[in-house]
Amino acid sequence: MERIKKLHISRRLSQMLFLLFFLTMPIFNILRYDSDTKEFYLFGKVWSLGIRDALLEGTLHGSGEVAVIIILKAILPWLIVLAFFPVMGAIFGRFFCGWLCPEGFLFEFADYLNDRILGRRSLFGKKNHNEGDSGRGTKSIYIPLAIFFYLTVPPIIGVLLSGFFIAPSRIWNEITTLNLSTGLKAGMVGVTIYIVITSILVRHTFCKYVCAPGLMQMLFGWFSPRSLRVAFDRENFSRCTDCRRCERVCFMDVKPRSPKKEINCVNCGECITACREELGKEKGLFEFCFGTCGTDLKVKEAAEDKKDDVKDVIKKEVFET
Ligand code: SF4
Ligand code: SF4
Repeated sequence: MERIKKLHISRRLSQMLFLLFFLTMPIFNILRYDSDTKEFYLFGKVWSLGIRDALLEGTLHGSGEVAVIIILKAILPWLIVLAFFPVMGAIFGRFFCGWLCPEGFLFEFADYLNDRILGRRSLFGKKNHNEGDSGRGTKSIYIPLAIFFYLTVPPIIGVLLSGFFIAPSRIWNEITTLNLSTGLKAGMVGVTIYIVITSILVRHTFCKYVCAPGLMQMLFGWFSPRSLRVAFDRENFSRCTDCRRCERVCFMDVKPRSPKKEINCVNCGECITACREELGKEKGLFEFCFGTCGTDLKVKEAAEDKKDDVKDVIKKEVFET
């Protein structure tokens, strides 16, 4: 079972480590802006154009040199930042959303609490997505846990995120002397309200329709012929027991067996694990692949040749039964 769960465990580890990395970036000066000194820190160093210092020292020769500095130290870094999500999307699809995004991780935790308390993952959904004893006899534990979580974790995240604009040493001083500045209070309250509202009410709807990095990855992943995706082994479709575990674990409400390229799939791989649990590690019907690959390709070719419209057969068998 552990071997089958390896993918799931790796994803959780990756989400936790990235969340930790993201929240501690200001502490280690990896990325932060100090609103007191007006300095921008990047990878441990103060990032500045250096034009004023060069002018004072008289080492700047002409406007051409100024233009080169602006291009290399201001425009180019921004272009690299802006290109990150489109490039990620073109190669890995929405992998960042499924494996790294701190917000997605919090939403999944909210799903888990919801499932334990109400017996369904979504607050507004009707059907019970998960199996087992979810929602039964667990409320007495999970309701206090949820209240404790939302009263403590969002304000702590608010403090850590404030570090992107307020020097961490100043934040530490304010907390230990219980003398919180307006900026820190605003950060804590604002982040708390945001996390509580998005985690309880909005969740993955935000990922599907609002999140700009998510939409960029979706768009470029959709157009890229070689982006990472989860492929369904249609040649061995007869092995499918129609247990629908792959559908139930999908928090993005994708139908993983669908022949369509799904724009909302975040390549989390939960359907891969679910199917392996049902059929055995070697017999699972899903795999990661880049582009149109394996038996998906044969389905595409067959459908294009109109020799055998496999897509229609699958659609009929999977979705109309
Ligand atoms: S289809 Fe599979 S990989 Fe894609 S989001 Fe759903 S569970 Fe994750
Ligand atoms: S988990 Fe596997 S066996 Fe079950 S319905 Fe999905 S594809 Fe079929």
